[in-house]
Amino acid sequence: MSKVLIIGAGGVGGVVTHKCAQHPEVFSEICLASRNEDKCRAIADQLDRQIQTAQVDADNVEALVALIESFKPDLLIHVALPYQDLTIMEACLRTGVPYLDTANYEHPDEAKFEYKEQWAFQERYAKAGVMATLGCGFDPGMTNIYCAYAQKNLFDEIHQIDILDANGGDHGYPFATNFNPEINIREITANGRYWEEGEWKETAPLAEKRTFDFDGIGEKDLYLLYHEELESLSQNIKGLKRIRFWMTFSEKYITHLKVLENVGMTSIEPIEFEGKQITPLQFLKAVLPDPASLGPRTKGKTNIGIIADGIKDGKRRKVHIYNICDHEACYREVQSQAISYTTGVPAVTGAMLMLEGIWKGAGVFNVEQLDPDPFMARIGEMGLPWQVVELDPEADPLA
Ligand code: NDP
Repeated sequence: MSKVLIIGAGGVGGVVTHKCAQHPEVFSEICLASRNEDKCRAIADQLDRQIQTAQVDADNVEALVALIESFKPDLLIHVALPYQDLTIMEACLRTGVPYLDTANYEHPDEAKFEYKEQWAFQERYAKAGVMATLGCGFDPGMTNIYCAYAQKNLFDEIHQIDILDANGGDHGYPFATNFNPEINIREITANGRYWEEGEWKETAPLAEKRTFDFDGIGEKDLYLLYHEELESLSQNIKGLKRIRFWMTFSEKYITHLKVLENVGMTSIEPIEFEGKQITPLQFLKAVLPDPASLGPRTKGKTNIGIIADGIKDGKRRKVHIYNICDHEACYREVQSQAISYTTGVPAVTGAMLMLEGIWKGAGVFNVEQLDPDPFMARIGEMGLPWQVVELDPEADPLA
C-alpha cells in the first residue's frame, strides 16, 4: 500500500496512470500532476477509480518540493520531459522520496542526451539513502533489462549488442511522431554514434541503413542512431566490444524529415519572428499532431528488442530478445498507442519493484545495474510478454 506521485500528463503519463490504477494493491493512492491540470483531469476521468490531480511547474524545484510535502508520496514517477530530470531529482533528494524516470537529462538549448548530470547526483543520493532509477521505459529501460538478463542468464560474455526498435504501426497521417516531436526529432537529426572497442564512432545522420525481418511486422529498413542507453550499457555489460542502436523509419518519414530539416524547421536555434523569439522545432511541434492523439488511429505492431552475440560454455551464441506490442490492443486497454504503452508499462513495473523493496539501494542506478530476473518475471503479466529466439551464431542478421 503506497502513495505514488506521477509528474507529466502526456502520452506516457496517461499509460502510467492507467497502469498504476489497475494495481491498487501496490498503488493505493495516486496523484497525477502536470503543467496543465486539465490534462490530468482528462486522464483521471478515463479511470474507474478516484485519483488526485495537481498543477505543478516541474522546472521549479520549490514548487515540486511543496507538492511532494503536501502529498507525501512513497515514490515519484517522472514522465514529463527530459528537461525536468534535474529539478525533479533535486526535489526528490531534498524530500527523501525515491525517483524513477524514462529518459536522460536534455538541456533545452543543446541536443546532447547524456547521463553526466544525473550521475553527478550519485554521492548525494547515496549519502541520503535515497534510490533513483534512471531510464525505466522501453528504450532505454526494457532493452537495458534484456541486456542484463542476457548477461546474467544466457551468456558467459557478451561481445556485441544491437538494439533494434521497429514500429510497424500506421496512424494514417503523412508525418507525425509517436512521442514528443521535439525530443524525437532532436534524436533523429543528430549524428549517429555507436561504441566499439572503448571508443565512440560517429556517422552522419541516418547514414547507416540495414534491413531486418521482424517477427510480427515483416521486413523493415533500420537506421543507426545514437540512443542514450548506449552510454550506460557500454559501461555496465562486461566484455562488451560493440554496441549499436537501430530504429525503423519509412521512406515517407525520412523524406518529410529531410524537407523539414532542409528548410530549417528542425533547428533548435531561436529566430526572430514578428518581433518575437521562436525556436523553429518548437513551432513545428505545435503544428504536428499531438502524439497522445494518435492512439485511436494507429494500427499495426511494434517489435523492440536486442540481438546479443557472445559466448556460452565456450561456444558462440546469438539471441534475439524482443517484445511485440499491438497498437490497437494498447488503445483498447489504456486509450493510448503502443509507443506510450511500451514506455509506461516498464516504468510502472520498476516502480512496483522499488515500492516492494525488491529493487533497492541508495544512489543513482541505471536499470541494468538492478536484478533483471524479478522484472522479467513480472513484465509479461503487466502487458509486455517477451521471447528469446536463437539465431545462427555465424550469420550477420544485419548484413
Ligand atoms: P508528452 O509531450 O506527450 O508529455 C509530456 C508531459 O509533460 C505533458 O503533459 C507536458 O505538459 C508535461 N510537462 C512538460 N513540461 C512540464 C513542466 N515544466 N512541468 C510540468 N509538466 C510538464 O511526452 P511523452 O508522454 O511522449 O513522453 C514523456 C517522457 O517519456 C519524455 O521524457 C520522453 O522522452 C520519455 N519517453 C521515453 C521512452 C522510452 O522508451 N524510454 C519512449 C517515449 C518517451 P503539457 O501537456 O502542458 O505540454
